[in-house]
Amino acid sequence: MTGGLRQAHGDRLRVVVVGAGITGLLAAVRCTQAGHRVVLVDRGAIPHPGSTSFDQHRALRALTVGDPAGTGAAMRLHRRWRELDALLSDRLSGALYRRVGVLTALLGPAAEAGALDTAEAVRLAIRIADPADFPHIGFPEGTAAAVFEPQAGVLLADRFLHAAGRWLRRQPLAELRPGRTVVDVRPDGGRVRLADGTAESGDAVLVAAGPWTARLLGLPVVLHRQSMVYLRPPAGLVNRWAATPVAGGIGTDGRAWLLPSVAGTLLKVSTDAVRHEVSDLADPSNQARWTARVLSSGAIRDIERYDVVRARQCHYATQADGGTGFVRVGPAVWARPASGGDGFRTAPLAVDAVASQLSPAAIS
Ligand SMILES: Cc1cc2nc3c(=O)[nH]c(=O)nc-3n(C[C@H](O)[C@H](O)[C@H](O)COP(=O)(O)OP(=O)(O)OC[C@H]3O[C@@H](n4cnc5c(N)ncnc54)[C@H](O)[C@@H]3O)c2cc1C
Repeated sequence: MTGGLRQAHGDRLRVVVVGAGITGLLAAVRCTQAGHRVVLVDRGAIPHPGSTSFDQHRALRALTVGDPAGTGAAMRLHRRWRELDALLSDRLSGALYRRVGVLTALLGPAAEAGALDTAEAVRLAIRIADPADFPHIGFPEGTAAAVFEPQAGVLLADRFLHAAGRWLRRQPLAELRPGRTVVDVRPDGGRVRLADGTAESGDAVLVAAGPWTARLLGLPVVLHRQSMVYLRPPAGLVNRWAATPVAGGIGTDGRAWLLPSVAGTLLKVSTDAVRHEVSDLADPSNQARWTARVLSSGAIRDIERYDVVRARQCHYATQADGGTGFVRVGPAVWARPASGGDGFRTAPLAVDAVASQLSPAAIS
């Protein structure tokens, strides 16, 4: 039996969650709903603008051409996000999900047939769109068609985090502790040590410290860094961009993507061509060079007419087996060391899976 189990009452546990990005916040929400007492700690504010989740938006779409099973799973995940939107959105946040659709360039008739077959297999609504209807977006040369997924859209990520934080603050079972840095996690017990010399203990510990998780626990991951550039469209295109879908497979080489300026956000653009591995999150970076490469990706036509408001580099971790969920690292400790490039969208899956394992019997 773990030392922490002594704190359990019936099926109720005391759960310490480390990290208040999307994973930690949703884990705290899920555990609270299950009747557990939750202590959520973060080294910064809650939510923390320095977390990788803290951004204007993240894309939410279902279609993976050639993968009906994965597409079906993503459709169920989409419904889960809609439930979370209904639970967490409030007067301050407004709707947290905006259904603006996702457009993906298709290169050649085989890609078009593949998209239609996959969508039909799982009854996903899509239509084939004409790239000429989006003259402000740069498509790879020779792109004759694009697939449009109308139910897809964007999660207003930072508003989601704030709304989850406000929801948790209203729950008697949840305690939020910002400004507390965890320096040590004991995998063999439900105890974490903090930089101020104090400790937190629970029946279970969930480590959701994003790309910082692996270092905290000494787990092997690959760290990826990618730059995103935020733009203000010229006055004549503001309305058009506010109604433009998310777009992928764009730019000269088809590796760029953009998120539109929906709900008052800035237009955001990046390309997988600027993603690179780093050995440490603190490795120096030539941000100006990466920004220039994003701007020259060809994702946006006449980009010199746009104001570059800011650029930001962001990290995520992957692991050798490709897993993006929580792994059990000790009798009472779980961690999500590698959420991957899709880790915001898949956070509810990771959280639901770990929450289903939390019971006194499972951790004794
Ligand atoms: C360029 C880019 C684009 C992306 N686009 C998408 C996308 O479109 N869709 C998608 O689904 N995903 C996307 N992702 C991935 C996604 O953003 C992340 O996988 C996800 O946000 C990770 O969330 P998290 O809660 O696990 O970690 P984080 O959001 O990083 O949260 C970790 C938290 O832990 C805290 N913390 C760290 N160390 C400690 C410590 N020692 N003690 C206490 N607290 C600590 C941090 O302060 C932070 O608040 C993208 C990532 C990048 C880099």
